[in-house]
Amino acid sequence: MNILIRNGTVVTASETRPADVLIQNERITAVEADLAAESADRVINAAGMYVFPGGVDVHTHLDMPLGAIASSDDFESGTRAAAFGGTTSIVDFANQSRGARMRDALDAWRRKADGRASIDYGLHLTITDLAGGGLEEMDSLVREGVTSFKVFMAYPGRLMLDDGDIFRILSQTARNGGLVCVHAENGGVIDALVARALAEGRTAPIYHALTRPPRAEAEAVHRAIALAEMAGAPVYIVHVSSAEALDEVRAARGRGAPVFAETCPHYLLLSIEELERPEFEGAKYVLTPPLRTKEHAARLWDGLTSGCLQVVSTDHCPFRFKDQKELGRNDFTRIPNGGPGIENRLQLIYHYGVNSGRISLNRFVEITATAPARIFGMYPRKGEIAPGSDADLVIWDPDAVHTIRAATHHMRVDYSLYEGFPVRGNARMVISRGEVIVEAGRFLGRPGRGVYIPRNPTGHG
Ligand SMILES: [Zn+2]
Repeated sequence: MNILIRNGTVVTASETRPADVLIQNERITAVEADLAAESADRVINAAGMYVFPGGVDVHTHLDMPLGAIASSDDFESGTRAAAFGGTTSIVDFANQSRGARMRDALDAWRRKADGRASIDYGLHLTITDLAGGGLEEMDSLVREGVTSFKVFMAYPGRLMLDDGDIFRILSQTARNGGLVCVHAENGGVIDALVARALAEGRTAPIYHALTRPPRAEAEAVHRAIALAEMAGAPVYIVHVSSAEALDEVRAARGRGAPVFAETCPHYLLLSIEELERPEFEGAKYVLTPPLRTKEHAARLWDGLTSGCLQVVSTDHCPFRFKDQKELGRNDFTRIPNGGPGIENRLQLIYHYGVNSGRISLNRFVEITATAPARIFGMYPRKGEIAPGSDADLVIWDPDAVHTIRAATHHMRVDYSLYEGFPVRGNARMVISRGEVIVEAGRFLGRPGRGVYIPRNPTGHG
């Protein structure tokens, strides 16, 4: 199937220009003015529209087990929702269980995704246990396209690794070309603050935020960067939420260290007051790291403008309010941490970033598609509009007005973090490897059409 997209304005991380885009089968084969229509089976008129590379969301948790429950979107519902929002690639986290091999996690997540994903997906490997001697296993995973790993500095006894193990993992990636993603919060201090709050009878959702102060994040970001520098490895800080943590990233980048960092729409657009909503509704906003005061959001926008932050991802990890968030009604530590967002990232960053004048159109494409594809070894297959790239494209209507609502979103969760938020600019058509999967609000993809993306070692450093 050959498709010609005519009369649109092609926007990449580096340029904005009127051009037609020719798709032959799964790839882009030409991006030029006035391409001939003869060879096309279908001609799409994109007059008045932008043509963006499909969005790349490198931080999602689909079908993620958490104790006795799981995040409420699986790979079928989650990738369909992503597609509606203009995202055509995700990188999800396969979590190693303690005592199991890393490969078991990879196999388990491939089973969750294969046959269900309707857009392409890669996997990071979350390391929770080196007791089985997993360092060599990392090398074989990198060779097979799992080129990024995640470690936790929080959640002692469950997910947290000590500094020695984190240093060993970073050192291994310095040799094998992998990239370590760090959840940076000081887990020991947080556990002590949580125990104190509970002993004082403070059990409401707001205490989730008050027991995880920005300093606990900044300290861990500082330490993660120091460990990476000692190991001679690059490092990627996930979900930066506070000004103090951002300052640590900026200082490291200022001295030339290969440090990368992302933030998420909720840290840019929401604040800690949400956790004080009555009737336990604050639980909807229990995310980790927690929402901060408003001043932090302004600083994070500055970080995106200045280049200190390279990526906006969602950390999509939805739990239903009705029967999942509810588990923590009498104890904030039992509220499953996380919220939905996979569908709304482009709408929100376009509206509150581009329309408000905070970031340029090209910077929008860079932080939502090109930079994450580059950093995680998918570029130029993903995140680019050029001959040879996968034909993953979004035809974006800059004038489409939309109000975000749980009642109309496609994520399998009973609330939205952005209920009632008005946005202008939305995906009109979404193309994944040359196939139109969303058109005029209808889903035309099918579960299982998404393929696994083996990724390249990234060689930062
Ligand atoms: Zn996450």
